[in-house]
Amino acid sequence: MSDMMYRPRRHRRNVNIRDLVAETDVRVKNLIQPYFVCEGSGIKQEIASMPGIFRESLDSLSKTIDDDFRLGIRRLMLFGIPDKKDAAASSAVGCNAIGPKTVRQLKDKYGDDLFVSADVCLCAYTDSGHCGIIKNDRVDNDATLPVLADMAVSLAEAGCDCVGPSDMMDGRVAAIRERLEAAGFHETLIMAYTAKYASSYYGPFRDACDSAPGKGDRRGYQMDFRNRREALAELALDVEEGADIVMVKPALAYLDIISDFRRSVDLPVAAYNVSGEYAMVKLMAKENLADEKALVLENLTAIKRAGADIILTYHLRDILKGGWLD
Ligand SMILES: [Zn+2]
Repeated sequence: MSDMMYRPRRHRRNVNIRDLVAETDVRVKNLIQPYFVCEGSGIKQEIASMPGIFRESLDSLSKTIDDDFRLGIRRLMLFGIPDKKDAAASSAVGCNAIGPKTVRQLKDKYGDDLFVSADVCLCAYTDSGHCGIIKNDRVDNDATLPVLADMAVSLAEAGCDCVGPSDMMDGRVAAIRERLEAAGFHETLIMAYTAKYASSYYGPFRDACDSAPGKGDRRGYQMDFRNRREALAELALDVEEGADIVMVKPALAYLDIISDFRRSVDLPVAAYNVSGEYAMVKLMAKENLADEKALVLENLTAIKRAGADIILTYHLRDILKGGWLD
């Protein structure tokens, strides 16, 4: 058998050759760390299902972010957890809302050295726990849009670099873009949760944000995981409505959707490596079923290889602490 002209194993003979020909590289600069901020002071509670991830009051969070900045974190996504919830999600809007208040403090301190993006959705702020305003027992799409737009403008006024609408209402990117333009925030990025699927992988996140719906579920607005072409319809709408970055969420069970996005659009594509995906890795590592570093790098590389330019991941702090990436 000496007549084989092409032997793929030549590329795999040692680490120098493997690195030389590797097609995919995960880079720290493409990763975003999510944070959860709540009202109050002196609060730092580890989320039971997400070891190493906390919900913190602003005083504690700003210390955490100082430490993380020294570690090398330069990009974050912020989720606010208010004290009060009501039917109108009124604590989501205004300069004293938990999101804008936190953004302002971070941007005053760090300016452009820290990229601050923030979630735009109502589920942590409504007493129903749904992502929109309830009318006649249903999440009312068009009644939700102005509230989302107000929330986005409040964040932009606080200096937020990027708003991330995650609610899956129809027309919300356009509603937010129009309001941002009208208010003079021409440079605020919109990272749209374009294909956000109704997923069981969000369980730990709902612990973190205390945002599980009281009754019903989110399948009336988040996407059905049986659908692939529908994601491209959502993508076309978000591009037309003015999204700057388009996202697929969750990531690992949706690599085909990430790949479709990459082939269909020239905008940056993001993927959210969600709480349940993080929890699975942590549980496997804890039970000594696999090496944590190896699992994390395999998962993130797969997401990147599928076509994501940007990955939101709870693993970023561990990656930097462990020096897992160059
Ligand atoms: Zn929501």
